Amino acid sequence: MLVFAERTRHMTASAIREILKVVSQPGMISLAGGIPAPESFPIHLMPRLTEAVLSRYGASALQYGTTEGFGPLRENLSVLLKTMHIDADADDILVTSGSQGLLDMIGMILISEGDAIAVESPTYLGALQAFRPYAPRFVTMESDDEGLIPEALEETLQRTKIKFIYLVPTFQNPSGRTLPFARRLEIARLIRKYDVVLVEDDPYSALRYQGTDVPSIKSLAPEKVVYAGTFSKVFSPGLRIGYCAAPKPIQQWLVVAKQGIDLHTSTFCQALAAEYIVGGHMTRHLPRIIDLYHPRQTAMLAALSRHMPDGYHWTRPEGGMFVWLQGPCGIDTEKLNEQTIARNVAFVPGKFFFADPDQGAHAMRLNFTNSDETTLEKAVAILADAARTASDPTEC
Ligand code: PMP
Repeated sequence: MLVFAERTRHMTASAIREILKVVSQPGMISLAGGIPAPESFPIHLMPRLTEAVLSRYGASALQYGTTEGFGPLRENLSVLLKTMHIDADADDILVTSGSQGLLDMIGMILISEGDAIAVESPTYLGALQAFRPYAPRFVTMESDDEGLIPEALEETLQRTKIKFIYLVPTFQNPSGRTLPFARRLEIARLIRKYDVVLVEDDPYSALRYQGTDVPSIKSLAPEKVVYAGTFSKVFSPGLRIGYCAAPKPIQQWLVVAKQGIDLHTSTFCQALAAEYIVGGHMTRHLPRIIDLYHPRQTAMLAALSRHMPDGYHWTRPEGGMFVWLQGPCGIDTEKLNEQTIARNVAFVPGKFFFADPDQGAHAMRLNFTNSDETTLEKAVAILADAARTASDPTEC
């Protein structure tokens, strides 16, 4: 009989990927995925980018490449990061198979069984899933509407030997919240004081619909931060191109890990990503994505205000892809999701975004990027109708 590795005991299927299977039925309105709108993809550019890749790089775009990544992409990423005040040379950048690929490698090289990993509450469930096979102990830090509370971080660092901290500081998945600059400064000070590494996962900061950019924590404490970026939300997730700028010793181990995992990320896709930057296509295309998403977010927020019953409150992010909705005590959003799925509307129940499964029962994550305004209005009306009858005060 086949006996699976001990580590599979810690592994669970992604709740979102399971929900996405259910909701792929025709007629279903999915607020569940963190999925870019198909209309956001620059399909019109693909023949030009492909042509440019083949004429500029020829056979080398189809060849094996170095584990660190395709040279022209790393050079262009270095320029891009410098515009964000992240001082990384091409050599400091490692291209990964999506930022999800990086999260797995981080787990592989940093987590020994039982190590304490500090996370926000709620946190990105894909990070929990990537780290879990390495059997860490998650330490949840108190967070509020502005994200991680620096005092909670300091308490955690005083109390526990933390291996690394994992944060999504900008337009967080799932809550949409953004850490203000003052907190970032304080967090940068604390990770220096306590000499601890922070993984800053930043897939959403380019999707800003209002307000002004906030500097990354990487730009404030570069020697302590592994910064992760991705092309998934600004180009195409199907290409699976992510990247990171990490302190040197961490980068060296990431490269060794990646050699064993996949040798390198698709050369052809990396070359496409390089051309997307070089030709100025990204700079021109990004405002189109924002123009598509901003009205969708406005429509979702307006529909929530119009329809949701008393006792519900939600985030109003300045960008990203998600709104985090919290219901009154007595609401079980997993049950509510079953009821709305029966009426062709799906979302992700909040409990999956907590390291502790007993948390988040009254919360849910709503995605607004993958449905048009009329559909969002309809979905929120159905959700509100189901929510009106769903509360069980005996559970309060
Ligand atoms: N981190 C966060 C916070 C995300 O929301 C996502 C996408 N859902 C990822 C990482 C993974 O993105 P990708 O692998 O497509 O770059």
